[in-house]
Amino acid sequence: MFQSNDGMEYARRDMVRGLAERGISGVVLDVFYRTPRHFFVSDGLRYSAYRDSSLPIGFGQTISKPSIIAGMVQALALTGEEHVLEIGTGSGYQAAVLSQLAKHVVTMERIGVLSERAVDVFKSFEISNVTFLHTDDFNNAEGTFDAILVAAGVEIFPVDLCGKLNSGGRLVIPVGGKDGHQIMKYVKKADGSLLEDNIGSATFVPYIAG
Ligand code: SAH
Repeated sequence: MFQSNDGMEYARRDMVRGLAERGISGVVLDVFYRTPRHFFVSDGLRYSAYRDSSLPIGFGQTISKPSIIAGMVQALALTGEEHVLEIGTGSGYQAAVLSQLAKHVVTMERIGVLSERAVDVFKSFEISNVTFLHTDDFNNAEGTFDAILVAAGVEIFPVDLCGKLNSGGRLVIPVGGKDGHQIMKYVKKADGSLLEDNIGSATFVPYIAG
């Protein structure tokens, strides 16, 4: 799917070493070593692609830093069997990571050009388990999901999103105001209630719907 000897493998190895020091392990770490983050940013940023920093992707949006993305992805505890929803395709990098850890990924993006650009980047890879939706409304994503990752920060938790989560499903979502977001993880119990855990903090671009 991806070529590991693409001239960036040493930079990627350094990035992965940093991720391991922050508690990322196993298959998630392997996927971060395999996935060419430099393909998902503009040419001028290629050499910054493996630093642990967020990078601009146009339209005022950013791709989060690898350690934040990895922490959120790891928290979903994917086994390879899941149907996953990502809200906020952005560059498509996180969708590419998720596609290697789950059975199927639906990724939605409100900015049409970003969605189209991500579709184009994916054309150069043999990834066939990702569906792209250009929408800002998760109700347009059909069905329910075993894992949901929200890549933009919400001010108020969108309660309806719980209806898109299967029993036993995991939801990772940044919640907060202008001073930053708490990255929250929810697990849906059989009785429909949610187990809540705070797994970190960072500042995300805003979730905008409607
Ligand atoms: N996961 C991305 C990072 C995305 S940044 C990556 O790997 O590059 C967050 C993205 O969420 C932005 O592109 C923004 O346009 C999008 N977004 C914000 N609110 C949204 C909504 N309601 N529905 C879909 N996308 C949304």
